[in-house]
Parts: sequence; structure tokens; C-alpha cells
Amino acid sequence: MKILVPVKRVIDYNVRPRVKPDGSGVDLANVKMSMNPFDEIAVEEAIRLREKGAATEIVAVSIGPAKAQETLRTALAMGADRAILVQCDDEVEPLAVAKILKGVVEEEQPGMVLMGKQAIDDDSNQTGQMLAALLGRPQGTFASKVEIEGDHVSVTREVDGGLETVRLAMPAVVTADLRLNEPRYASLPNIMKAKSKPLANKTPADYGVDTTPRLRVTHVGEPPVRQAGQKVGSVDELVEKLKALGVA
Ligand code: AMP
Repeated sequence: MKILVPVKRVIDYNVRPRVKPDGSGVDLANVKMSMNPFDEIAVEEAIRLREKGAATEIVAVSIGPAKAQETLRTALAMGADRAILVQCDDEVEPLAVAKILKGVVEEEQPGMVLMGKQAIDDDSNQTGQMLAALLGRPQGTFASKVEIEGDHVSVTREVDGGLETVRLAMPAVVTADLRLNEPRYASLPNIMKAKSKPLANKTPADYGVDTTPRLRVTHVGEPPVRQAGQKVGSVDELVEKLKALGVA
């Protein structure tokens, strides 16, 4: 079985985002960019499925600028077999990403699309769901456990009340949650090897997708600055202050 793993290049999760002075977005100039953390988890899970013998090939795909090649090389260094860059220099919204991924799925015919539940830059949590809908295939979102059972996949999902297990007929779309696994670091020899793994270049037009945005960002702002606290000398003083505020 082939597994397709979409990976997005996003601002590194350790970086404190700076808002552009005109409020039009986040300033990405000279900022460290990395693979979306949930996508690292998806790549790791795909590798584990291949190690267990449940998968035979892992194809990583990224939709983004030429620099997204670095993200794909990271996926290749972790263990993906080959990569596809769908080059697009402007921001691509989840629906357009899902339409492009649909085209990739039709071309590659994977048994499973294993992706992140959410990109940490837009926090949309939409692409996997939209892709499953466009393909008319089952979806297992927020996966904390993935087990292949013949031509089905059993996905344990993290839901509000606890854990829910669903059994999906493949091909299926699965989105990874935080507790699915701990991704491996790529070793230096594997980083070197990744440089010679195949990476195909495509464009959204190859899949007949128009990536013109449908949404307009009206304003991006810093979160409100936290107010300074007050130190109290005793519990009685605390209770007095709370009473004065009308909360006790
Ligand atoms: P989102 O719906 O934007 O929160 O993204 C959910 C998941 O869709 C991510 O974790 C990725 O696996 C995938 N994805 C979103 N945007 C892209 C992109 N530009 N390239 C590749 N995969 C993407």
C-alpha cells in the first residue's frame, strides 16, 4: 500500500510570531520555518506502518513556495521514499490545498492519505475533512492510534469525552493528533541520502486548480498584553480584595 503524506512548511513552533506593523499578517521575513509539527507525526506514523509491513511506499507532497523543498527533504530524510512539490508562491487556502491533493490522489492512487490534523500557522483544521469530502472517501480525524486490518484501517480518535474508535474502508483520509507518536530525528546519513531521493515539480495548473483566495484577512493583531498581578500578604487580604471585586 502507498501512503500519501501532505506536509506544510510553516513558521517554526518555537518562534514567537511578529505581526506586521500594518496588521496585514505575520512577518515571515528572516523567520525560521519548519515542517508543521502534526505533519511530522503523520510522516512518522507512515514510516512505522511501512516498518510493520503494512505500507510499501511513502510519498510526501507539499503545496507552497520553492523553499517548501526543504520541508520535503526533511520528510525524505525521516524516511519518505519520494516527494512532490506543487509550487505556488502565494498563500493557498485549505479548500484549494484539498483540491490539489485530490488531483495528487487521483494520480498516485494511495491506500491512505495520512496528514496533520491542523497547520499551526492558520489553525484551520479543514484540509483533511475537505479532501475526504471531495474524494467521497471515509475520514478518521484526530487519530491517536492507527491500525491496518486488511483493506480497512482502525483509527482511535481523541474526542471530547475520551477515545472513539472508527473502522474505515480504504482508501481513507486519516489526520494525526499530538499523541499518535513521537517523531524521530533524521540522522545525518539519512539527511545525505535524502538529497538524492526523487522530488517531482508540479504546479496547481497541472491539477486544474485555481488558487485565488476566497477569504480576505481584515486584520491581524497581537494578543492583548497581560495585566500585571498584585501580591497579597494573607488569605484574608485575598478574600477582601475578591469581595471588593465582587467575585467572592
Ligand atoms: P489546515 O486545514 O490548514 O489546518 O491543515 C491540515 C493539514 O493539511 C496539515 O497538517 C497538512 O497535513 C495539510 N496541509 C495544509 N496545507 C498544506 C500545504 N500547503 N501543503 C501540504 N499539506 C498541507
